[in-house]
Amino acid sequence: MKAIIKPTAGPGLELTDVPMPEHGPNDVLIEVSQASICGTDLHIEAWDEWAASTIPVGMVVGHEYMGTAAAVGSEVTGISVGQRVSGEGHITCGTCRNCRAGQRHHCRNTVGVGVDRAGAFAEFVMIPAINVFPIPDDIDDDIATILDPLGNATHTALSFPLVGEDVLITGAGPIGLMAGAIANRVGVRHVVITDVNDYRLKLARAMGIERAVRADQESLESVMRELGMIEGFDVGMEMSGNPHALRDMLHVMNHGGKVALLGIPPSEAPIDWNDVIFKGLSMQGIYGRRMFETWYQMTALLQGGLDISPVITHHFTFEQWKAAFETARSAEAGKVILTGW
Ligand code: NAD
Ligand code: ZN
Repeated sequence: MKAIIKPTAGPGLELTDVPMPEHGPNDVLIEVSQASICGTDLHIEAWDEWAASTIPVGMVVGHEYMGTAAAVGSEVTGISVGQRVSGEGHITCGTCRNCRAGQRHHCRNTVGVGVDRAGAFAEFVMIPAINVFPIPDDIDDDIATILDPLGNATHTALSFPLVGEDVLITGAGPIGLMAGAIANRVGVRHVVITDVNDYRLKLARAMGIERAVRADQESLESVMRELGMIEGFDVGMEMSGNPHALRDMLHVMNHGGKVALLGIPPSEAPIDWNDVIFKGLSMQGIYGRRMFETWYQMTALLQGGLDISPVITHHFTFEQWKAAFETARSAEAGKVILTGW
């Protein structure tokens, strides 16, 4: 089958032929229809320090996708050949304390599709049946392709109560944008999103996010005054990975505020601990999605009218993967989808 792999221990990827994945009695073989590019894929292509220490050479990359079940293992129930599916990319051990307690998102032995094992930028991908998520008929292929990052946004956004709250999101990348749309949908008072990229702030406005702020040009204090906010933000979602963004957020949180941290800083990031301690802030790290509650929550949100479509800005074929990666890396894109083998 055709697949995009990491051919050598260095920068670059290659579209080539690889053997079909084999599936066991509890696995499902999925024929991939579409996939999308994640920041992780860009790190793998660039071969930074993290990628060099994590990614097996020769591995098929990619983990955001949708397709149809092409073959199901003999022990699998509830999934039939031809069914439209997506897949949870975190494969958990099932035997550690958290897995056994139903806290799979805290599994200490998580293996990542397209990170530690063969991924989805291929004609076929194989995953355990438990990780397969059937896609409701009223969710179209493009939206189904980005359920993985929508799940990151949903997990983060719903980690603290939002109804009637003032919410600050730092980073208007695809995940921050989708979190903003969710915050609106569930009934916040104000939602403010920051970025340093005008293209992304324009996308934020297109998604109906009330106030899109250039973090390097406008102060959050002045935005608060303009909105008639007196005390500070109730809930913060850090979705940029930029240490300055986190520091600025902590300064404008109200006392007793809640902060969810999804963005991955490049290295250790100093913060003013006085903000955390004297304001009694709660801080929650977020990794992946809740298995599988997040998948049900996000599909229900979509079926209830959540619109994230403006976040999808480009389509390329798998053959055009180089142009697709270049576009995803540029400052002028939201989510980039790869279609059709
Ligand atoms: P992205 O890189 O497309 O978006 C980050 C955005 O932050 C960009 O638009 C960038 O311009 C903006 N930014 C940079 N500096 C800023 C600043 N000082 N203030 C405000 N915004 C600033 O990434 P994404 O795909 O939307 O993912 C968001 C973050 O979440 C990334 O850090 C990514 O690595 C991380 N992530 C974490 C998980 C997890 O499970 N924890 C999963 C997926 C992604
Ligand atoms: Zn486990």
